[in-house]
Amino acid sequence: MSKISLVIHGGAGTILRSVMTPDLEKAYLLALQEALEVGYGLLENGGSSLEAVKAAVMSLEDCILFNAGKGSVFAKDGSQEMDASIMEGKTLMAGAVSAVRNIRNPVELAYTVMTKSQHVMLNGKGAYDFAILNGIKTEPDDYFFSPFRYDQWKQMQDSDEAALDHNVSLTDKKFGTVGAAALDKHGNIAAATSTGGMTNKQFGRVGDSPIIGAGTYANNKTCAISCTGHGEPFIRAVTAYDVSCLMEYKGLSLEEAMNVVVHDKLIKMDGEGGMIGVDANGNTAMVFNSEGMYRGMKNSSGKNIIAIYK
Ligand code: ASP
Repeated sequence: MSKISLVIHGGAGTILRSVMTPDLEKAYLLALQEALEVGYGLLENGGSSLEAVKAAVMSLEDCILFNAGKGSVFAKDGSQEMDASIMEGKTLMAGAVSAVRNIRNPVELAYTVMTKSQHVMLNGKGAYDFAILNGIKTEPDDYFFSPFRYDQWKQMQDSDEAALDHNVSLTDKKFGTVGAAALDKHGNIAAATSTGGMTNKQFGRVGDSPIIGAGTYANNKTCAISCTGHGEPFIRAVTAYDVSCLMEYKGLSLEEAMNVVVHDKLIKMDGEGGMIGVDANGNTAMVFNSEGMYRGMKNSSGKNIIAIYK
């Protein structure tokens, strides 16, 4: 049987065992496993890596525990604006949306931008209009409301700070951006990322998640990557593409390249976070420089890992 692999993340940050309750931990592990099963099931049935990453990310977007889709964080003005992207390694086609509101599954909209428009990234109101034209599911503001996110934002609203939602001071609540990378039976890889961004973000701020090459990248020649962390350094470091470049131009393995970017380059730029990735041989890696990263992987060699802490 041809190899298949799926690797996912649910965000990185100050995630400490000491402040996690057993019930919450169980809920996270279940949600991660469920997303893995959804995506992996598609791969097993011959589905494409693109379909698998979309499905895995949609499963995480529908879960209130993660900062994407339903569980998105609040911006300074009390709005919830989401970013997402998806890329296919075989064709180098990509789709992305930024600062969208009321879209149930931003990654599905990013996929639709890729497959049904002549553009790569649509923003805000235009992206919403495109969603309506293409029958993408929307939800009222209430759907996206969660009391704990609201409290996180209220704690910060009077400051000019924006925070990774795992790092806001309400320390027993940790939630994150989501992403997936996959290899399918046909040897093609893909990656996708979706987020509500950073709590208390201002002025229409857009992070790395919807930016091809920063938060997401896929190229059959090298790797498929989805990042999570403090978006600004990730944009400046062109993080996901840098991993691909280190593999393509320097011959590094996936894990070696991710280690250079996460533990050296990003650290020098104060870039807290991590990434997950897969290469065209089905090798996966999950690397982070924060206290923890919600993560999981499953492959056709029988490996199935779900983890949170270092
Ligand atoms: N990278 C995301 C952003 O900066 C946040 C996250 O990964 O949690 O918008």
